[in-house]
Amino acid sequence: MTDIDLTAPSWELGEWQRALRAQFPIITAHPDLAYLDSAATAQKPQAVLDAVHAYLTTSNANAGRGTYPWANRTTALVEQARERVKRFLGDPAPEGSAVHFTSGTTEGLRTLARDWLPHFLADGDEIVVPVADHEANIAPWLEAQGQLARQGVHIRVRPMPYQRASGDYDHRALAELAGPRTRFVAVTHVHHVYGGDMNIHRVRRAVGPDAVICLDAAQSVGHQPVSVAELDVDFVVFSGHKAMALPGTGAVWARRARGPRFTPGGWAGTPNTVGIASLTAALDWLEAAGTDRIERWTVALAARLTEGLRHLDAYEILGCQTSLAAGSPVQRRRGIVTFRHHAIDSGDLGFILFSDGFMVRSDQHCQGGAGERTGSVRVSLHVHNTVEEVDRLLAVLATLG
Ligand code: PLP
Repeated sequence: MTDIDLTAPSWELGEWQRALRAQFPIITAHPDLAYLDSAATAQKPQAVLDAVHAYLTTSNANAGRGTYPWANRTTALVEQARERVKRFLGDPAPEGSAVHFTSGTTEGLRTLARDWLPHFLADGDEIVVPVADHEANIAPWLEAQGQLARQGVHIRVRPMPYQRASGDYDHRALAELAGPRTRFVAVTHVHHVYGGDMNIHRVRRAVGPDAVICLDAAQSVGHQPVSVAELDVDFVVFSGHKAMALPGTGAVWARRARGPRFTPGGWAGTPNTVGIASLTAALDWLEAAGTDRIERWTVALAARLTEGLRHLDAYEILGCQTSLAAGSPVQRRRGIVTFRHHAIDSGDLGFILFSDGFMVRSDQHCQGGAGERTGSVRVSLHVHNTVEEVDRLLAVLATLG
């Protein structure tokens, strides 16, 4: 994770950003609305819509079955998409790794928990579960524990330790907790409520070189560079639809390093070929746009919003606090800012904000039981969002103080 200069947010990227924003038809068609819910699902640039249209009008067929040109093209498209995902994730050994397409992160994590983890663990092993992260990254591991117990294999679930104030993992406590039987650690790259980058290289240091790390990258793929080589993780699971591909898309990347080969069980039937075509186009688009620049832009917007909120007494910001102040050491928050009003219910606040054209998420955000007990409003930013949108939102929030 590189430091981003928050004192001079990357406004020199303004021209680049305007050109990219113009490529989102749903955004440009609604200049009075501000889409601030990209963590739930991302809007699609024209290039992705074009790829979907091109596929459906030139090649639509089933994959891996027919021998005529459309079917062959579709089969090739799926295989090329696997290679595309590997390249996008900076896979240093693509010949040994695998990519499995899913409908999103939830299905990806569930598939791993059902079809891989039980074959990897033995009686007495331990796994670490991030109990204040997204429920999709908690329930499947607990279900795997139950499945193993029914087979007479008893594993221990260790709750991931957290630093309460910031929402970060407590890496020191994790190092103390991890031992030789800690064989599997589920983590999240960017927290979907607190917005912090969870410092995965510190997780690796804490648990040692032999534990398998499974990364929920739902909030990082498409928003910032994600390099499996740098992160030193064994699985990456993400949602294509949060990375600008069609709804119902996602993938599991699996390194061929430890444990049994990841071979999802059962006959999955017809793959989501048009979704897979959209994923390739989305990854092409994101790479051309520059995920490093997308990160700089959205981090700067989030810092501006956080800084503005800090001056409004009626609001409490959840998670890490990023300051725009010169020399601020805090570099953790990505493009997600979640907050509460001291007197207005988060659901009501969501309605009020929509009456002013802002689309935000308000509730408990599918957070696991060890997370927040009361609802909040989440603003999640992407490359089409503007400084003007953030300032307008702050002005509206100020009137509710
Ligand atoms: N993990 C995290 C961190 C998320 O933010 C989300 C969705 O918001 C999910 C998992 C679930 O993703 P999907 O709905 O694509 O299955």
